[in-house]
Order: sequence, then C-alpha cells, then structure tokens
Amino acid sequence: VFVVFEGGDGAGKSTQVRALVDALRAEGHDVVRTREPGGTPLGETLRALVLDPAHGPVDARTEALLFAAARAAHVEQLIRPALAAGQVVVSDRFADSSAAYQGAGRGLGVDRVAELNAWATDRLVPDLTVLLDVPATTGRTRREARDGAPGDRLETEPDAFHDANREAFLALARRDPGRYLVLDAARPAGEIAAAVRARLAALPLL
Ligand code: C5P
Repeated sequence: VFVVFEGGDGAGKSTQVRALVDALRAEGHDVVRTREPGGTPLGETLRALVLDPAHGPVDARTEALLFAAARAAHVEQLIRPALAAGQVVVSDRFADSSAAYQGAGRGLGVDRVAELNAWATDRLVPDLTVLLDVPATTGRTRREARDGAPGDRLETEPDAFHDANREAFLALARRDPGRYLVLDAARPAGEIAAAVRARLAALPLL
C-alpha cells in the first residue's frame, strides 16, 4: 500500500506523515517512511543540490528534471521494492508536487510535468493521496514560525506561486476523487490524523 501526503509548504505534511506512520506501526504494520525530494542517498544528494541557495535561480526545466530524476531513483530503489515486499510506504510528497510546483508554479504546464513524472515513475500511482489544503498566507505564517527566516531557495517564493500550486493540487484531486482525500490543513492535527486513518481503513489491503 502506497500512501502519499501532498500540499503546500507549511501544510503540516511532516506532522501527519509521522502520526500515520506511528499509528500504523502501533497496529503492527511494517511501514517505510520516506520523503521527496530525497528518500535515497542519491535522492538526498539531488535534494541538497536543487535546494542549495548557493546555486541561485535554477531554470524551471532543470528543476523539473532534477526532481524527476530523484523521483525515478526513489521509485526504483526504495518504493517498488518495499511495496513488493508487502510493506506500507508513506511518503511526504510525490509526483503531484512536481505537477503543482514545476507545472503550475513555474509555468511548465501541469499535464506536461505530470507526463514527465509518469515516465520517471513508470506510472506508479499512489493508492491514496492525502492533500492537506492550505492557503498561501497560512502556509507562510506556519513556515516562518517553524523555520524562522526562509530556509531554502524555494521558500522565498511569493504567495502567488504558492496559490498557483494550491489550485493545481485541488484540480488534480478533482480529476481523480477516488484516489484523493482533501482535508483543510487548518483543522486540528488530531482530527486530520483520524480522518486519514478512517479513509485508509476503507482500502482493501489495510
Ligand atoms: O516538502 P519539503 O519542505 O521537504 O520540500 C522542500 C522544498 O522543495 C520546498 O521549498 C518545496 O517548496 C520545494 N519543492 C518544489 N518542487 C517539488 C517538491 C518540493 O519546489 N516538486
């Protein structure tokens, strides 16, 4: 079973990933927790590369290809082997983040970036994608409370960038409601975690 958390910066994805992984492990499931960009040594190196402010502005295509390369490695080296071994994989971000950030935010086109990533992942699709929906202003406030000054190169983007991403995430969710659980990220963390667990209980294998 492959579960992904998506949403803007400051949506609370890491908190919810942790909550779900802890809950599933407490129930005896064998769970792999991972994140993007990252997840494997190569992926973490690519993450550091693409987020390093020292590199200055990275053009949109380069950024999209680096994220897609990191994702291809993540799928081949970690996610598919874990799924094949019967483990539950919970990832903080996956391909929809690129469709939103590089497709909408950076203007490369949601469908083109989605197609690039469908190729990169050999069309691996999550069983459930939890979208934590957050307006740009709320995300920024939460991010600043968490990190102080903007942490990495991409966190200095204006609210309009994050609003475009948000709309793209919501549009992706509307296209495939069976795969998505869209939750208001402003709800209390405990309520969100319970809603996720309840939806997962409806999946055949869990
Ligand atoms: O989710 P996390 O904070 O780990 O993401 C790291 C950074 O990468 C964030 O600033 C996020 O906005 C950015 N990102 C991106 N495109 C993606 C995935 C993440 O610009 N496809």
